[in-house]
Amino acid sequence: AAGTRTPHVAILPSPGVGHLIPLAELAKRLVFHRGFAATFITFSDFSSPAQDAFLNSLPPGLSSLSLPPVLLDDLPTDARIETRLCHVVARSVPRLRDILATLKVTTPLAAYVIDIFGGDTLCIAKELGVPHYMYCTTNFTVLSLLFYLPTLHRTTSCEYRDLAEPVVLPGCAPIRGEDLVNPMQDRTNEAYTWALHIAGRSREAEGILVNSFVEMEPVASRILMENEPGKPPVWPVGPLIRAGSNDGEENRSECLEWLDRQPSGSVLFVSFGSGGTLSTEQLREVAFGLEMSGTQFLWVVRCPSDTEAYGAFFGDKGADDPLNYLPEGFLERTKGSGLVVRFWAPQVEVLRNGSTGGFLTHCGWNSTLESVVHGVPMIAWPLYAEQRMNAVMLSESVKVAMRPEVGKDGVVRREEISRVVKELMEGEGGKAARDRMAELREAAARALTEEGSSYKSLSEVAGKWKAGIAV
Ligand code: UDP
Repeated sequence: AAGTRTPHVAILPSPGVGHLIPLAELAKRLVFHRGFAATFITFSDFSSPAQDAFLNSLPPGLSSLSLPPVLLDDLPTDARIETRLCHVVARSVPRLRDILATLKVTTPLAAYVIDIFGGDTLCIAKELGVPHYMYCTTNFTVLSLLFYLPTLHRTTSCEYRDLAEPVVLPGCAPIRGEDLVNPMQDRTNEAYTWALHIAGRSREAEGILVNSFVEMEPVASRILMENEPGKPPVWPVGPLIRAGSNDGEENRSECLEWLDRQPSGSVLFVSFGSGGTLSTEQLREVAFGLEMSGTQFLWVVRCPSDTEAYGAFFGDKGADDPLNYLPEGFLERTKGSGLVVRFWAPQVEVLRNGSTGGFLTHCGWNSTLESVVHGVPMIAWPLYAEQRMNAVMLSESVKVAMRPEVGKDGVVRREEISRVVKELMEGEGGKAARDRMAELREAAARALTEEGSSYKSLSEVAGKWKAGIAV
């Protein structure tokens, strides 16, 4: 247990389980292996059953406290999710100042860590004289965009999606404007103004840790790790993923026992992260496509949403049964070959299971790293946030993912789904992706050994934080 003189790290994860998970993994490395205690400061505005369950199951040495809600009723009802996140952070600064000041008095506060949305709070740690770092829970490509956005803004007058040429970030695969992060798709929206604001703030961090590793993004990481005036030092610390989940999901034994009965490498796991939702029509096409492919599958189904691709992000399960949206007779026809579960599966355990041979994923960064660590090649099906950028990286530079072609109406048709699934599981393209994934898996494991680049960077940072306390 943390003694009173144990160096302490205060961590501000932005709302959403997808943000909390990687920060918790960073905290566990600091607590279990480097002698720190960690406190999460969370936003009660966005609490969800999933988030509460997660926080309640934190191991010893990690604790959490929550910021009181702030009023957001002056925001337009159609304010984007990124806008709402940024307002909550900015409006929580006074209360957060009290909390950090108290922690500084009651503990040896060694560092304050935010993720990409927390930039407006760095000033508090600065005032208090506490080292203040950002954890980029995604990758070097996204960090590169963050650093490059102000320049892109100055030198581009049209919408990015109308650019004739792709955007070239230093050391990254060229990215078409329409594949850039969601808030960059409409420069007149307030969410874009916040993206620019966040980009500026990120340079105020004293250092930036990245949940990626050098071998995955060799050129982009090298460029970002070079010293440059005005840019904080950057350290790769990944891939930091969960060892497994203990959030008590109801589908655990059903999924794992079913997988154990399937042949090695035969099953395609289909899941769109903690929040991803498909349209009603797309959900039906996925069902028909999986059926047509004749492949074994394990599919996590959510209720469709025809308005938002992140409908379930804050753990909103809705009142409906998602199985009601599947085509008639689908469950009976696929009984021998597929397993459908509602809302949630123990993903890390599923990817670790030898029966799993492919992952149809929304390319959330945690899901991506979990796939890499377990050597499972992917079908990239991005939905929102930075997922389209991840999909480009995975299919075009890292070459561990295949991409289905999206129809002109934005829907991927069943024939195309069946084609790409068969190609991944049985075709030459799938074999190439699997071989490449096996190499990447080894590189990921190496990065985390005591001699590895990611392990050494975290040691260096942890050493700096402890040295700061000693003086
Ligand atoms: N996850 C899970 N079971 C599910 C869906 C998601 O365990 O059915 C976990 C997954 O293993 C990952 C996280 O939730 O750790 C999702 O994070 P990611 O960055 O992939 O996507 P996001 O949910 O943020 O879009």
